[in-house]
Amino acid sequence: MKVHVLTLFPEIFDMLKDYSIVGRAIDSEAIEIEAVNIRDFSTDKHRRVDDYPYGGGKGMVMKPEPIHSAIESCKKDNSRVIYLSPQGKIMTQSLVKELTEEEHLILLAGHYEGVDNRIIENFVDDEISIGDYVLTGGELPAMVMIDAISRLMPGVLSSEESYEIESHYEGLLEYPQYTRPRVFMGKRVPDVLLSGDHSKISLWRQLSALRTTFMKRPDMLKEMKNPKEQLNLMDSMLKLIGKR
Ligand code: SAM
Repeated sequence: MKVHVLTLFPEIFDMLKDYSIVGRAIDSEAIEIEAVNIRDFSTDKHRRVDDYPYGGGKGMVMKPEPIHSAIESCKKDNSRVIYLSPQGKIMTQSLVKELTEEEHLILLAGHYEGVDNRIIENFVDDEISIGDYVLTGGELPAMVMIDAISRLMPGVLSSEESYEIESHYEGLLEYPQYTRPRVFMGKRVPDVLLSGDHSKISLWRQLSALRTTFMKRPDMLKEMKNPKEQLNLMDSMLKLIGKR
């Protein structure tokens, strides 16, 4: 997948090639990232990219012409143009999964009070937010999106790191994880994880994923795709521990 990021701070994206799994995705060519400086498309002699808002008010607005030229410089027939915006639909794991199918993403990172609305209405396919709060610029949201996409690209994660069991992939949170030592400050790792019985461990993990989701994010259970399957699972677990 090719990703162009349109930004006023292209140098920020240099660090991605040295950053953990995103760096690995870049090395293996699963993803190619190119930061494009919107300022390079300003025709103003002072290279201005922002101006006062019509109608008055505080702050500056990013001018449409340089952004439009920047989009045009990299747009192809298969491009999906995304404006990172606090007004967009919230990024979820299923949306990230959907984005991994794209061949070319153009991510527009805004700044100041945002971008001229004519760009959003006419040249942007989706507005996507990373959460209901306002950041200074779209660069961090673009990086968040790139990270989330990179780890889902085929071949980037090893089988040990597989994403299918992680939180949100199947509509649940992940089960609790433990590592050595067996006892830490008097707190023991659950016995079942030391039992070597893989079917019991697997059931424990599935049930714990349900429990964790119920405790931390009960709202997610309403969206659950296959509640019947989950109930059957709980039944088998209860049978296994002799409570049914
Ligand atoms: N005035 C805008 C508003 O109230 O909707 C906020 C502009 S914000 C200060 C500047 C830029 O940061 C935006 O153009 C957008 O690209 C980015 N941004 C801020 N919060 C974001 C979020 N939650 N998700 C994605 N992008 C965000």
